[in-house]
Amino acid sequence: MIKIHNLGFPRIGAQRELKFALEKFWRGEISEQALENTGAELRAHHWQVQADLDLVPVGDFSFYDHVLDMSCLLGHWPERVQGLSGSELDQYFRVARGRSAQDSDCQCVAAGEMTKWFDTNYHYIVPEFSAETAFNLNPQRLLAQVKQAQALGHTPKVVIQGPVTYLWLGKSKDATDKLTLLPKLLSVYAQLLHALAQEGVRWVQVDESALVTDLDSQWQQAFTSAYQYLDALTHKPNLLLTTYFGDLAQHLDLALSLPVQGIHLDAVKAQHEITQVLAGLGDEKILSLGVIDGRNIWKTNLTATLAALQPIAQSLGERLWLAPSCSLLHVPVDLAQETQLDQEVATWLAFAVQKLQELKILQQALNHGEASVAQDLADNQAAIQARRQSKRVHKPEVQARLARITPELGQRLSPYAQRAPQQAQKLKLPLYPTTTIGSFPQTADIRQARRDWRLGRLDEPTYQTLMREQIAHAVKVQEDLGLDVLVHGEAERNDMVEYFGEQLEGYIFSQNGWVQSYGSRCVKPPILFGDIERLQPMTLEWIRYAQSLTDKPMKGMLTGPVTILNWSFVRDDQPRSTSCYQLALAIRDEVLDLEAAGIQVIQIDEAALREGLPLRASQWQTYLDWAVQAFRITANGVSDQTQIHTHMCYSEFNDIIQAIAAMDADVITIETSRSDMELLQAFEDFHYPNEIGPGVYDIHSPNIPTQAAMEALMRKAADFIPAQRLWVNPDCGLKTRQWSEVLPALEAMVKAAQALRVQA
Ligand code: GLN
Ligand code: ZN
Repeated sequence: MIKIHNLGFPRIGAQRELKFALEKFWRGEISEQALENTGAELRAHHWQVQADLDLVPVGDFSFYDHVLDMSCLLGHWPERVQGLSGSELDQYFRVARGRSAQDSDCQCVAAGEMTKWFDTNYHYIVPEFSAETAFNLNPQRLLAQVKQAQALGHTPKVVIQGPVTYLWLGKSKDATDKLTLLPKLLSVYAQLLHALAQEGVRWVQVDESALVTDLDSQWQQAFTSAYQYLDALTHKPNLLLTTYFGDLAQHLDLALSLPVQGIHLDAVKAQHEITQVLAGLGDEKILSLGVIDGRNIWKTNLTATLAALQPIAQSLGERLWLAPSCSLLHVPVDLAQETQLDQEVATWLAFAVQKLQELKILQQALNHGEASVAQDLADNQAAIQARRQSKRVHKPEVQARLARITPELGQRLSPYAQRAPQQAQKLKLPLYPTTTIGSFPQTADIRQARRDWRLGRLDEPTYQTLMREQIAHAVKVQEDLGLDVLVHGEAERNDMVEYFGEQLEGYIFSQNGWVQSYGSRCVKPPILFGDIERLQPMTLEWIRYAQSLTDKPMKGMLTGPVTILNWSFVRDDQPRSTSCYQLALAIRDEVLDLEAAGIQVIQIDEAALREGLPLRASQWQTYLDWAVQAFRITANGVSDQTQIHTHMCYSEFNDIIQAIAAMDADVITIETSRSDMELLQAFEDFHYPNEIGPGVYDIHSPNIPTQAAMEALMRKAADFIPAQRLWVNPDCGLKTRQWSEVLPALEAMVKAAQALRVQA
């Protein structure tokens, strides 16, 4: 009999119950006990939903982040919070969110650094290591959850980060080699495994996804020594070595050589390795195959999956387990919550709850014959076929246009050196031109108007008038401030991806498809289901109106194809690059419409270009090649005089500078204010030829930067990049700020630019 299990269930709640409880707790509206109760209820409910599984995950629930939970379990707090008073939960949130002087206890600490969880849009709190790092097992919370699951009649499989991946995820604060901490860490893991065994836990899922990244020989050796050490322990549960988000590639033999009782493979991303893993599995190990895609929202083709699994089930028998490819943290909770979804597309989808139902059907079919689930399989096949044949998915005109793409389509007419003087002549900008990144404060009024309009409480003409008033206000403010290249302010946009997705054919939007991004923050990725078409202009009227109000150049404002792609659930029936090129063609049409309407400067934001980088460096170039080409197709149909801007809000450019240069935007605005311009070094070293606007105003903070500070930053920038190619602008859009912060900050920014011009 083959078994089924789950690597992790979304913890935020189908109605985001955890989010709302957390935020109430942080505002002091509910007690710690009330928050704990919500946590316990959610866990109980989620196990109930998973009751058909042979093993339910325990330890996957978290009040903020599972890596921070692991730090807490290991008694490993950052030095700066050690010795502070308060409950453990207090300490936990202090690390998660930081605490500022406004708080009454005045124990101010900076939040732990947050970084992206592998190649997902989830962010974890980075463990901090130093030579002094000590670990002290703190298992009460986890053990209580084990007991809770057992009391409810479930068989728990405890989920933890493996020791090597835990070190790999962290950051050394004092240049200590993290691997030197491994022996100390392992002795705490030994105590933990002992404590779990005492509690009657038979299986522990040890997440070691560092194995799907490139590891040097020391890290590989660390795996061997860590697992030999754990294997030698006498009283411990079985270990399921778990990897996801990628294939094992060069570490396949290493993973198979580790002395553990089972191994979980992401059978979606590493499908091509199943045969090899089977061959090297030996006679005793369990093989868990993650056959249900935990990173996407499509139904699994159950018939095809079963066909592939039959021979494996024959040979492994009860040593075969099935699961989703990774934790279901990365998909929305329950499709049944969606009442307004496009009815046709909805039949092709599976969220977390539905994915577990698929798992159950597979298990039934393998254990009791396909006839036992004949109707389920037939329904699934019908949905798979309908999607495959749908005319809304497959559009010959879109595909024909894609087939006509040539390299020339991404080519500007002339190189930058020839375009720049033409643009200068047309735009007549001063030295150190000033601009902003696009959005202005999204006030309560603006959000209310958008909401009322969506709900039909505000008619179209009234909504148009209100938005135009906002645009007029933004233009007036910018003219008064003396900015050089203006923006319309993006009042009409809820979100930089959703706004475009909603107007493109081939996209749908869920009402409740929330996925945790970090802490209580969730995102609702749009679903790209079909060939992409732009039926009519998306931004043209707003930008045209804005331009009509001023003689200064008005920047057209668009989101680029790579960012739209990377922030969506995308198709699994064609390469990401194909979907990206379709988006590129649609936005290219918008660029050309803006140009035809007399817009001389067009910004195409690629905020998420970097986060699409694959986990292994060996695959970066392939991704960058098509991503850059998609941007170029979008941008490069314009005349030499039209100035193309792009914007990226991050500060690591070293390893992608060549791709950034290949995008060939006339101007790139980037986030730099917090890194003191040092990152411009990468641009200088590369002899980056085009114009750069290094942000001088940190929009993430309510602080208002001074003119002197911004001048100093720009002088520093001029050490790296000739002043003729520098722009003066904030780090990112201003939508999260208040007007009361934005006005003085921009006034000081414009004055800084004026002062620099005088000095030049
Ligand atoms: N144009 C967008 C804005 O100003 C850019 C946002 C972003 O880069 N994340 O809000
Ligand atoms: Zn930005």
